[in-house]
Amino acid sequence: RMLTDKPSTSTDPHAAPIARNGTRPESEAVLAYFEGDFVPLRDAKVGIMTHSFLYGTAVFEGIRAYWNADQGQLFLLKAKEHYERILDSCKILMMDPKLTVQQLTDLTVELLRRNGYKEDAYIRATVYKSSEAIGVRLHNVECQTNILSIPFGDYISTDQGIRCGTVSWRRTGDLSIPSRAKIVGSYVNPAFSKTEAMLNGYDEAIVLTQEGNVSEGSAENLFMVRKGQIVTPGVDQDILEGITRAGLIQLAKQELGLDVVVRSISRSELYIADEVFLCGTGAQISPVTSIDQRAIGTGQIGPITAAISKAYFDAVRGRNPAYSAWVTPVY
Ligand code: PMP
Repeated sequence: RMLTDKPSTSTDPHAAPIARNGTRPESEAVLAYFEGDFVPLRDAKVGIMTHSFLYGTAVFEGIRAYWNADQGQLFLLKAKEHYERILDSCKILMMDPKLTVQQLTDLTVELLRRNGYKEDAYIRATVYKSSEAIGVRLHNVECQTNILSIPFGDYISTDQGIRCGTVSWRRTGDLSIPSRAKIVGSYVNPAFSKTEAMLNGYDEAIVLTQEGNVSEGSAENLFMVRKGQIVTPGVDQDILEGITRAGLIQLAKQELGLDVVVRSISRSELYIADEVFLCGTGAQISPVTSIDQRAIGTGQIGPITAAISKAYFDAVRGRNPAYSAWVTPVY
């Protein structure tokens, strides 16, 4: 039950036509940061010999901005953490975008302002090997940075409970393609997983490591609640070191008084968990109500998932001043 085609909720009746499901808005008024300038998104194109198009040699971040209608403010979420991570990914892929975390944040705020959102938005920043050159390698290739934004609602359900299935594909190991880097080409691995899960009738995939431990969802980190403890796999389980994951560990402690236990999880342990939820920038908090046809707990959204979800949405929408460091006001 994917919700990507749910119309995003614009509060402005005169707003430009909006992307319904993550596709590119047609309007010329929608801008992107591209090759050092703000240009219409529809004109931001790269050549077909671009190295990253040929070989997947690019890194990216997906970032959200939340509209708070009461405050008339748009809050960019965890820009610092995302841009620190993109620079880490760049290092792994041997790229130097020659932009600092602050410059990348400023460019993003400027882009959101120019696009004038009064609704939730999604930002995609990419640093890509831009030379038009044949030859698979990491060294001796130029790079460029682009940043685009689109209006965006839920990616997967946050309030219904989703049905997940473990898949036959394994998460790429650190010796093949490091999962801690957000490498564009590596997303073929989650694409295999997501499609297998969906074509088998599930909403989302749960992906195991080469060793058979629980790693993560196709684009989400995973948490389990068992016997009053919140548990999540460690960074040695070929996960992306998620920014939402880190935020939820903080919220669990500060808002729920619960320490999160970081340890490996076996598939069968998920089946007997009291609660499971996925989290990520796109997914936000997604309660999992069944896995491989087994109901999780009562089969309903559990109390800890509900509590952490509420704390998360209060923080990201700028409703809890204790977490003002998480958000950058755009206006
Ligand atoms: N794992 C993968 C593979 C992802 O693509 C994402 C989304 N970026 C996540 C986990 C969640 O990470 P974050 O909370 O930083 O968005």
